[in-house]
Amino acid sequence: MINNNNIWQKCLEELSSTLTEKDMRVWIKPLKVEHDTNEIKLYAPNKFVKEEVEKNFFNKILSTLGGMNADILVTLNIGANFRKREVARDLPVGFKTNLNKEMTFDTFVEGKSNQLAKAACLSVIKEPGILNPLYVYGGVGLGKTHLLHSIGNQLSSENKKVVYLHSEKFVQNMVTALRNNQMEEFKKFYRNLDVLLLDDMQFFAGKERSQEEFFHTFNALFENKKQVVLTCDRYPKEVSGLEDRIKSRLVWGMNVSIDPPDLETRVAILQTKAEMLDMPITTDVAFFIAKNINSNVRELEGNLRRVIATSRFKKCTISLEFTKETLADLLSLNQRMITIEQIQKITASYYKIRVSDILSSKRDKKNTLPRHVAMALCKELTNNSLPTIGDMFGGRDHTTVLHANKKIIKLKKEDPQVAQDINNIIHVLNNG
Ligand code: ADP
Ligand code: MG
Repeated sequence: MINNNNIWQKCLEELSSTLTEKDMRVWIKPLKVEHDTNEIKLYAPNKFVKEEVEKNFFNKILSTLGGMNADILVTLNIGANFRKREVARDLPVGFKTNLNKEMTFDTFVEGKSNQLAKAACLSVIKEPGILNPLYVYGGVGLGKTHLLHSIGNQLSSENKKVVYLHSEKFVQNMVTALRNNQMEEFKKFYRNLDVLLLDDMQFFAGKERSQEEFFHTFNALFENKKQVVLTCDRYPKEVSGLEDRIKSRLVWGMNVSIDPPDLETRVAILQTKAEMLDMPITTDVAFFIAKNINSNVRELEGNLRRVIATSRFKKCTISLEFTKETLADLLSLNQRMITIEQIQKITASYYKIRVSDILSSKRDKKNTLPRHVAMALCKELTNNSLPTIGDMFGGRDHTTVLHANKKIIKLKKEDPQVAQDINNIIHVLNNG
């Protein structure tokens, strides 16, 4: 016969055999329990935990207790005198900047594609709080994180309280704080910063509670003229699942895009990185690698490291031949990056119109559909930012590109012919 005192203990054991370790740790174990003769009172540390438990686990708890033949009433409330835990281990109590010392402005190679973004970041370190928030956006591996750390390293050397944080970590810290009933500390921590560097904001999409907390944090910093710098993989308006009031705040600050670097910049980046790795490379080798990898600095760097590591291992110098050999698989895979121009050309010829018609402002259906298809493909298949794509379509605004893309997504669902046409065009783009 189970008595009330250990009934919850037994229930926990049962639950842990069906729930994941994480669910147990995050949601179930933080519940405090009080036993009465025929009642078990569960207390959640706060509203957030209570609601989550109610939604996801309460039935399970009831059926588990039911299965144990326990004829007992179970209630779930927020604990009024819920005791605080002494330490929140994963909450940033001590001061951690999370900065990577190697990512500085000195090691950031400037080119046309990132000039504006870099200039904006430099102006932030000169006069923090003026360009606020600064929002840097662009595709993967183009240097957004590098710029955030560069700002952080500089300002932290000037004794500013700086924190770099990936958005996912912000969310995690918040959940931990909620769970441990330490939201006050959480808020205080972020609101006392001089500079908040928040990376990859797209991770906030759909996370309402985190967005709300971020919004308050952001406003508090903003009102005190403290600097916030954010990065994201796309333009604010494009992040679906992001609240409108946040979007408008972001649009209202300073937005700069980073685009894929051009050939000369890629060469310069390779040479800089090679020197940093103590293994300078010749210009022809740099050009060869840069020509074959033309979208993403991270890949550029990865392949350079591969060439250098292989040369060290085989103890041979890095000649052009050696580089070609080492990267042979990459070249046979033929990472043909699709460009905006190719998309315009192939789309025009598919619809039997001229590229100049695609770029023109002709508004008849014969020209608008191909134009929208081409814009949507540029958005989906290249790593270019919306403003760049807009520019390349006869100086159109980035919102036009967004609009075209939305339209095509809708049309693809409604009209099988359009979907088929697009697939055909993509096929030609991929197979030449
Ligand atoms: P993102 O955050 O945009 O995905 P990262 O900042 O992580 O990209 O950059 C990927 C890698 O490329 C990093 O190692 C970074 O140092 C390097 N990198 C990107 N852009 C540059 C640049 N302009 N000069 C030097 N290194 C760069
Ligand atoms: Mg990044």
